[in-house]
Amino acid sequence: MSVRREPGVEARQQLGWFKANQWLLARRATQLGFFMLFASGPLFGIWIAKGTLASSMTLDVLPLTDPLVLLQGLVAGHRPESLALIGAGIVLGAYLLIGGRVYCSWVCPINPVTDLAAWVRRKLDIKKGWNLKPKTRLWMLGAILVAAFITGTIAFELINPITTLYRGLLFGLSWGMATLLLIFLFDVFVTRNGWCGHVCPVGAFYGLVNTTGLLRVSARGRQRCDDCMDCYAICPEMHVIAPALNTADAGDSPIITDIDCTACGRCIDVCPERVFNFTHRFDQRVDQPPAPNTMTARSRLVTAA
Ligand code: SF4
Ligand code: SF4
Repeated sequence: MSVRREPGVEARQQLGWFKANQWLLARRATQLGFFMLFASGPLFGIWIAKGTLASSMTLDVLPLTDPLVLLQGLVAGHRPESLALIGAGIVLGAYLLIGGRVYCSWVCPINPVTDLAAWVRRKLDIKKGWNLKPKTRLWMLGAILVAAFITGTIAFELINPITTLYRGLLFGLSWGMATLLLIFLFDVFVTRNGWCGHVCPVGAFYGLVNTTGLLRVSARGRQRCDDCMDCYAICPEMHVIAPALNTADAGDSPIITDIDCTACGRCIDVCPERVFNFTHRFDQRVDQPPAPNTMTARSRLVTAA
């Protein structure tokens, strides 16, 4: 097996390690912050949020409910309490405003594990895998709703790795850790970005509410792209990039509008030409093409060597 160059090497050489990882670091800090909101109670006796990401009460005043959990409950025939309705409305409103799949990259505790699996997969240079379609997760979403209807319970929550991981970390239940290991092995050996990119019904649900969010990534500097392909190599949903980046018409929108984009910011981090940036969905600015004799990041490195 040959080992492919890790994406982001040129960006690190050009910009320094911190700048070439700034959004990754910001996401890890945010994920840890969300976890500590729940963990500070069981671990240190400082109760900020009681519950899990499925349903919680923050500082005894702010109810938050996963809208997908509420939806499963409705399909199962349960009449929701008013607090659950308010909590789901708050969460749904926030993700409609920001962008649904921000949940996947900035909040979900599974993300660091699947990111690690993707890194291991790149290191082992595993190219082939099971060719699952990204739309498979929509079938999974339908399946968990059918399961709720048939069983009259929120059946998926018994095995939902997000909930079981939280319970495992907070209360030491081993099933959560076993689920995590299965997801890791599935992503490394079965299919690239297998769980988050193809299977997870929670990601599918938040993708469906990713149509109005303001936070978007723009390929504003696409004229500087030198086709190094690092953004494609790192992106967990690589099909979302091309319509904004590889467009023949300079007037086409530079905004990545595909509902599968998780706003992880890794394309921004690893691009040595600083093609991408975070912006809002209405920002249509495109940088002017570089002057003909301008050197790209790669040619600067080659010259320096
Ligand atoms: S946008 Fe172009 S230069 Fe930047 S990482 Fe992607 S392929 Fe490389
Ligand atoms: S396009 Fe960029 S921000 Fe969106 S999922 Fe891919 S790497 Fe993350």
